[in-house]
Amino acid sequence: MNAARLPALRALLDEHALDAILISRSANKRYFSGFRLSDADGPTSGFAGTLLVTRDANVILADTRYTEQAANEAPGWEVVATAGPMQDELPPLLLRHEVAALGMEAGVVTHADWAALAEAAPGVELHAIDDELVPLRMLKTAEEVEAIGRACAMTDACFTHLIEFVQVGMTEREVAFELERFFRVNGAEGLAFEPIVLAGARAAMPHGRPSEAVIDAGNVLLIDFGCSVDGYRSDMTRTAFVGDAPDGIRRYHDAVREAQRAAIDAIAVGVNGQELDALARRRIESDGVEPYGHGLGHGIGLETHEPPRLRRSESFTLEAGMVFSIEPGIYLPGVTGIRIEDIVALEESGPRVLTTSPREALVIGS
Ligand code: ZN
Ligand code: ZN
Repeated sequence: MNAARLPALRALLDEHALDAILISRSANKRYFSGFRLSDADGPTSGFAGTLLVTRDANVILADTRYTEQAANEAPGWEVVATAGPMQDELPPLLLRHEVAALGMEAGVVTHADWAALAEAAPGVELHAIDDELVPLRMLKTAEEVEAIGRACAMTDACFTHLIEFVQVGMTEREVAFELERFFRVNGAEGLAFEPIVLAGARAAMPHGRPSEAVIDAGNVLLIDFGCSVDGYRSDMTRTAFVGDAPDGIRRYHDAVREAQRAAIDAIAVGVNGQELDALARRRIESDGVEPYGHGLGHGIGLETHEPPRLRRSESFTLEAGMVFSIEPGIYLPGVTGIRIEDIVALEESGPRVLTTSPREALVIGS
């Protein structure tokens, strides 16, 4: 655990006139304490575990199912065993630590929990603290970049396997199942997200779900997938051709690939994310097609989608330490979808692409 994380969190107490911060987002629990809860254990499924950080105490409130795990994973944290909901367990602790102003993650605490705590601890002011936490995780340390790199390397290995595995006649779901199996047997913690495996015209749905649809000769096959290694995520998309694809569709693949290359080549410290998005869009528009409706990319780390967001509507300056995706695409409903996505770590010297699977139009399944 990086020793700088907790002091950076505590610095927010003075900056925002708070006496304590309650950490409820799973990725933040792991980031600040090492305590690993999945989203399924999160605030909406009861009170499995929450962090309370004051100026001089850091406490994990953990359901008795998790106290041993918390003690092992989060050395240096006081573990308080809880039996009831937050509105019962938290007020005595807030009293003991003389908390009059508490920061909470309004983005993840349910409205019901927030209201119940407000009622149970009427003397404590509750303040939303969400945007203020974002910068803490946005710039990655070398160790974090390395962990993301391990997840990306496993994703590359998985893609190499899939190129051999996919055959005409398989369903999208068979491919999705196989990629998950590959990640699990090779030691990944799990999937970074539900994989997207779409054949033919179904690839026009940017976030479609794998189905029983059969992969046919002449289809494109879009695979968007990633895994989690030591908590850190990968996210990569490749669009391959199953047998020969029509020239028209190949041309779209070229356009997306060149759009992505133009954006990656322009990445540097100090560049505005909007400029990258504009570069990629212009390249696709020059082929006479409507570019992607989604953003060009997103930050990645302990969560698959985290700040920064690279999109038209948002101006922000790229900094060394940011790790993010670059994923332009073309979607033609009823016809096809093409997306190419890679993960880039921005270093002082420039971008380093962490996913290295071939980006050219691969022919598979034969
Ligand atoms: Zn992505
Ligand atoms: Zn993706």
